[in-house]
Amino acid sequence: MTMLDIIEKKKFGKELSREEIVFFVTAAARKTVPDYQLAAMLMAIRLNGMTRRETTDLTLAMRDSGDVADLSAIPGIKVDKHSTGGVGDTTTLVLAPLAAACGVPIAKMSGRGLGHTGGTLDKLESIPGMSVDISEADFIRQVQEIGVAVVGQTGELAPADKTLYALRDVTSTVDSLPLIVSSILSKKLASGVDGIVLDVKSGSGAILHTEEESLELARVMVEVCALAGKPAVALVSGMDQPLGTHVGNALEVKEAIDLLAGRAEGDLLDVSLTLGSYILMIAKKADTEEDAHRMLMEAIRSGAGLDKFRQMIQAQGGDPRVCDDVTLLPQAPYIRTVTAGRDGWIRRMDTTALGTAAQRMGAGRLRKEDPIDPSVGFVMHVRVGGYVAAEDPLCTLHARCAEDAEAAEQAIRAAVEFSDVPCPKARTYIARVDQEGIHRMGDRG
Ligand code: URA
Ligand code: CA
Repeated sequence: MTMLDIIEKKKFGKELSREEIVFFVTAAARKTVPDYQLAAMLMAIRLNGMTRRETTDLTLAMRDSGDVADLSAIPGIKVDKHSTGGVGDTTTLVLAPLAAACGVPIAKMSGRGLGHTGGTLDKLESIPGMSVDISEADFIRQVQEIGVAVVGQTGELAPADKTLYALRDVTSTVDSLPLIVSSILSKKLASGVDGIVLDVKSGSGAILHTEEESLELARVMVEVCALAGKPAVALVSGMDQPLGTHVGNALEVKEAIDLLAGRAEGDLLDVSLTLGSYILMIAKKADTEEDAHRMLMEAIRSGAGLDKFRQMIQAQGGDPRVCDDVTLLPQAPYIRTVTAGRDGWIRRMDTTALGTAAQRMGAGRLRKEDPIDPSVGFVMHVRVGGYVAAEDPLCTLHARCAEDAEAAEQAIRAAVEFSDVPCPKARTYIARVDQEGIHRMGDRG
């Protein structure tokens, strides 16, 4: 078997055997074939697609290309959540402590920001002292002791994905269903969890733009999880505006604390509770979504969720007092509120452009090695479909200096479209996808 034979076969749209897929993945992990052959193979997959069986074999081969974490020392059903990436999407920081407070062990490995989307690890590191680099033994001990840990990868998970993702980024092959599915799920399956809840985004800020593509991505991911022996449920949710109101690392931690403390509400809380209830059901802590929802709400009301977050911060070396005084989080030196400047309804937001605006302010990286500024970003005061008067606030900028704020103001204004006539709200919920198929959802889930 040679790499050239396998490329040839996929070039003509033929189905690859498991052995051929393993050969390709092993070559990617060990770098035993040149990048140009791997890149040609990625483009052949991008153009000709893969069957479910091929996608599953690709996912499992990538999972097995490196370490697979063993979480068996943690009692109970371990369930993880993965989002395909959003803006102002801090669901992990809300639902991890809430689900842990309801008795689900949360042993979560998260990622860093990618392009215009934020990363949970970067957000957590905005808490003074907080560490996300923890050994596997300490990670497991922390979940045994307090029931929750959110950390970076502990071992070398799915090294084949590292090689392939870097090549996809520079060969225009990111937007391929089998490549996205195998990339995401190989890492999730290698993290050793028993069940998976997926949040697949759809809309102007999502990796795939149309609703049909997002539904198909959700369906394939749920099926591949089932074929890999892990129960999974996916929510397909809207990304036609930032999910929460805060965009930027410390700002998003503040919003998560406000929600856990019961001081705030909105789409971020709603989606966190929906995903959290799927977690409770897979973990067999609740029989129905309604029961699960009630348990999670009770964890907010009683303060048990915020207390779990406090314990997690303390265990990972951070200052737990941020949970009681959010002004202990890093504060930007230059804060300014921008008014709408005209009357009207909000027709549309370019969520990717908003994420990019935050990234440019210093909240994200342009290159992998760039440092980020935890304090910067913005708070949006409007939602799609809402009405604003000219003198109403549009957003509050948290910037390093007046010049950065000016640039961000221009980018945000350009990303928000007004209308003189009323227009509909953006959809928060689109569908729930499970083994049985796609269940369309009304707006309140
Ligand atoms: N996130 C990943 O980890 N991989 C993809 O392919 C897309 C998003
Ligand atoms: Ca007016």
